[in-house]
Amino acid sequence: MSLCENKVIIFSAPSGAGKSTIVRHLLEKFPYLEFSVSATSRKPRGSEKNGTDYYFFTKEEFEQKIKKGEFVEYEEVYAGSYYGTLHSEVERIWNKGNIILFDIDVKGGINIKRLYGGHALAIFIQPPSIEALRERLVTRGTDSPEAIEKRVAKASEELGFAGCFDRIIVNDNLESAFREAEEAVESFHMKKL
Ligand code: ADP
Ligand code: 5GP
Repeated sequence: MSLCENKVIIFSAPSGAGKSTIVRHLLEKFPYLEFSVSATSRKPRGSEKNGTDYYFFTKEEFEQKIKKGEFVEYEEVYAGSYYGTLHSEVERIWNKGNIILFDIDVKGGINIKRLYGGHALAIFIQPPSIEALRERLVTRGTDSPEAIEKRVAKASEELGFAGCFDRIIVNDNLESAFREAEEAVESFHMKKL
């Protein structure tokens, strides 16, 4: 891929909508996609590995990097926890000729879309309802009841931004959501910029 064809695909959604499940599926299916590993100041969860799931930094280290202008974008997604995309990560993936796949919060997704314009495909994963979202977070079992309520409260606001994305995929039946996402990725991959 030549430099002028650098592409990015963004997946954003309220937490629990199924974005990571869909992103994982796409990464297995399409070898030309590469996951953008974000930086975060939150602590690793479960079996998460530094450099694979996130680049883990302390809050102070993260703030130093903000000062030095090392981020393409960053957000304090939850109070006290920063998340962001490093310039070095974007360059690393484009240098290999791959399409960057972002799993990123709604505001971050909109910022990346604004930055890359026609080089970006922005997809919003919508849950069938807020109740379904809460149930999925409970079933996933990775967050405390307080963290779940924080995520659900934020979801109502985030759903209001769905219209800023190029496409909305409702993740009710997972298999149908997979097919829709695959089609969107393939047609964007083939598209001449
Ligand atoms: P996100 O990355 O958006 O926070 P996840 O991909 O972790 O969400 O999904 C949240 C939970 O919901 C996981 O336990 C996942 O297996 C489950 N899930 C994903 N899609 C569906 C679906 N269509 N129906 C039911 N459960 C789902
Ligand atoms: P989690 O703590 O569940 O891994 O992620 C919390 C939220 O932060 C998710 O919505 C996730 O998509 C988002 N996120 C992950 N990386 C980034 C990033 O680089 N920038 C922004 N703005 N959000 C991110």
